[in-house]
Amino acid sequence: MKDCIFCKIITGQIPAKIIVETDDIIVFLDLKNHPLVVTKKHIANIYGLDDLLGAQVMKQAIRLARACKKGLEADGVSIFQNNEPAAGQEVMHYHLHVKPRWHKDKVMINMPDTAADEAEREDIVSKIMAALAQNHHGF
Ligand code: AMP
Ligand code: ZN
Repeated sequence: MKDCIFCKIITGQIPAKIIVETDDIIVFLDLKNHPLVVTKKHIANIYGLDDLLGAQVMKQAIRLARACKKGLEADGVSIFQNNEPAAGQEVMHYHLHVKPRWHKDKVMINMPDTAADEAEREDIVSKIMAALAQNHHGF
């Protein structure tokens, strides 16, 4: 879709820190330094997702949650997903947030961003990818 920032990432027109890529899904680091699970097909929001693609999104979310826990030593992981502006959706291309959380965040309702410069963003990505490769299971 023309003028869609996520479609431009998917087609390589603009750069992103890509963590996972399959035929149907791409995962990259968002601007606030946590992974987004994104459909490659331009679907605006959850209302247009079919069951099979929804299952693929959740499969990646599960793997990413484990990888954030292990790779980034997160104390917890929040999964959230906004549909339509009224719900806070800013990019109208389906994506699900996988946000590592730490006790030290203290704030449980608001979700503070992870401060990170370019080198730290690289480090976050490489730690998540290393943990993904180890394929941790239920812990
Ligand atoms: P939402 O408010 O749920 O629609 O979230 C929008 C998400 O898009 C946020 O997590 C942003 O950090 C992310 N985002 C916007 N532009 C980019 C970009 N160029 N690269 C990576 N993530 C982006
Ligand atoms: Zn798009």
